[in-house]
This record gives sequence, structure tokens and C-alpha cells, in this order.
Amino acid sequence: MIDLITAAYPICRSITGDGVRRTLRMIQERIPLEIREVPTGTQVFDWTVPKEWNIRGAWIKDPSGEKIVDFQDCNLHVLNYSVPVHEKLPLAELKKHLFTLPDKPDLIPYRTSYYKEAWGFCLRHRTLESLPEGEYEVLIDSTLADGSLTYGECLLPGDSEREVLLSTHVCHPSLCNDNLSGIAVMTELARELQARPRRRYSYRFLFIPGTIGSITWLALNEVKIDHGLVAANLGDPGRFHYKKSRRGNAEIDRAVLAVLKASGEPFGVEEFVPFGYDERQYCSPGFNLAVGSLTRTPYGRYPEYHTSADNLDFVKPEALEGSLRTYLAVMGVLEGNRRYRNLNPNCEPQLGRRGLYRTLGGDESGRARELALLWVLNLSDGEHSLLDVTERSGMSFAVIREAADALLEVGLLEEAP
Ligand code: ZN
Repeated sequence: MIDLITAAYPICRSITGDGVRRTLRMIQERIPLEIREVPTGTQVFDWTVPKEWNIRGAWIKDPSGEKIVDFQDCNLHVLNYSVPVHEKLPLAELKKHLFTLPDKPDLIPYRTSYYKEAWGFCLRHRTLESLPEGEYEVLIDSTLADGSLTYGECLLPGDSEREVLLSTHVCHPSLCNDNLSGIAVMTELARELQARPRRRYSYRFLFIPGTIGSITWLALNEVKIDHGLVAANLGDPGRFHYKKSRRGNAEIDRAVLAVLKASGEPFGVEEFVPFGYDERQYCSPGFNLAVGSLTRTPYGRYPEYHTSADNLDFVKPEALEGSLRTYLAVMGVLEGNRRYRNLNPNCEPQLGRRGLYRTLGGDESGRARELALLWVLNLSDGEHSLLDVTERSGMSFAVIREAADALLEVGLLEEAP
């Protein structure tokens, strides 16, 4: 994951253009990714696919001709989606096109102007303060022209055509946690799931530009999604944070909470709000999909967010690995959550006779296993799912699933229709 993040970090991505294509090709080297192109001007619900933006270079020269800001040093220096410009202008005029963070004077901000044609530069406030009066020269060597919107899609077919959606945005330039961490964890998750001989669900991974990408996908595709998560901010050292789907009590909401509770680590939970990443579109009332968002520290709540400090030092391998494991555990719940019927419902069956008491005297884990067997037997009336058993018992889904497997093996359970 760190390799992918490091390789993709220098690329100037945006909602369209070659930066996204290059990034998707890096993902394609790791998983079976289809790269889709949707032409500029395509109508997608209330929106239109915009012109394609590409950039080759940009700089500001001070009155002495020295470059004081250069796109080659950091692609955040250009207001993302800037129209081309090459002119000379006095400092007072130039300042109307400059963006800084006065309270974080050593950081470069990340700014965009997708839907209003503009040009501008983002720079350290310290640099801005040092600029002498005089005539400046600016160049932005960009193009904004008819082309297409590019996104990546990876479908891993399962026994059912019903799908689990995993969606992450790919439209941010050199920002690691917001953008690249989601890309890296989702790529690795797809690799892990692809390696399995069998999947209950089909899995659809979308690597898309934020907002316009999910709107485009929803407008142009048949939606067969039963559960979904929007992934982002998965490499910072912060605790996990789950934002529920609009439905609030969907299976995905319960599955994520069961996994986070079982982890024993602190985590945050929030109800749905119509703001944030692409869950805004998936949870719009016309779709109302069961899609939540599982992140570490949410967008906007860490000081490095949308600045040059969201860099390679900010994302940690342990954090990425923990995020991958957590997503895998959630997929494990979705794959394993079924309903069963106890075939010996009149009083408890004799477990010892069937070899289900494996430890004599009973250590702590032995007692937990025994209790899990009793919970599964008790609630397996054809109505309750293993996730219900997990919630009611306060045990981990993995232990409950294991107990159900042991009971199936000795013929005490059957799957309910
Ligand atoms: Zn962002």
C-alpha cells in the first residue's frame, strides 16, 4: 500500500484528465480494473460531464524574474482546474488570484474551481508576506477542452449478482490520507477478495472522481447494490469513525459497528448527514442505498487536511494495515451473516456427546466458545441472523460464526430459507 501511495503521490490528479488515467493504470497493475471514459457533455441527472483538464506546468516570477512559486515543486501550487493564463500584472492584481493559510503559514492549501472558470495559485502564507511590490509574470500551461471523465471499475463476481459497493475518490492531487489511502486500501482489499475461491456477493470497486464520478456512475449503470461503504482517510493514526447510511439501521451499519465493537479499540459513530464524500449521492432519496462511510479521522478534522502536510510522512503503514483488516472483517460479516434453524429445539442438545466441549475444565476461551454455541442454538429459530446473535450476545461475529460452523458440522443446525 505504501508503494502505491508513494508512486501515485507526485501525480497531479483532478476530476478529469491524465492524472486520473495514470493513477488508474497503476491500480490496474494490481487488480482487474476496467477504465471507463465518459465524454464531456454527457448529461448525468442534473449534471453535465465537464470539460477535461490537463496541466503541464505553472509558475510565478517575481519582479527580478525569479520563480517564487513552481508547479514542479508541488502540484498543490495551482488552483486545481485553473484555465490557462500567461500575463504580467502588479502585485495588487496578482493577490486576487493567490490563496494561503494565514493560520498555517508554512503549509500550501489545496483549492479547486471545478465548475467556475478561474485561475489561481496556492502558496505558503510566509511566501506571500515576503513578496515585494512590482510587476509579476504568471504562467499556467493548462488546457480545459472537450475530452472525457475517467473512472475505474473492478467487479469481482460472486455466487449472487447482488453487490457490495466499495467506492473511493481519486480526484485529489498530492494528498496522501485524503485520496491515496483510500485508493491503496481498496486496491489491496480487492486483491484479497479476488484471491478467494468463492464469494457469496459480487463486489464492485469504484475508483471515481468525487461527486461527478458517483453521479455519472449512478446515472449510467444498473444498480444492484445491497451493501456499500465509501472509503477515505484510512492512513492517519486516528481512531476509526463510522458514518451510518441514511437508513441508519441497515445490515452494513450493524456489520461495521459489530466489527468496531469487537476490536476493543475506541471508535466514533455518527448518524448520516447529507454532506461529506460520495455517500451523499448513494444515499440521495431516489436511491437510498445502504451505503455508509468508514474512515479513520473524518475529513476536515485533522490539521493536515487539504494542505501540503497531508504528505507521505502523515500516512502510516500500521494505520493502513489496520484499515485493511477492519474492512476485511466487515466483508467477513456480510459474507457469513445467515439465518439458521436449530434442529434440536426442545431443550438443549447434549454438546459433550457430539464432541463440542473440546477443553476439559474450561479455560476462558473454552467457556466463550461454549457460550457462543448456546447463543447460536438459542436464537437459531429461523428468524434471527448471526448478526442478531452477535449483537444480543455481545460476542464477536467471528466467534459466533465459528460456533455456527461447528453446529452445522454435527447436524444441529440447518440454514433457514
Ligand atoms: Zn478532500
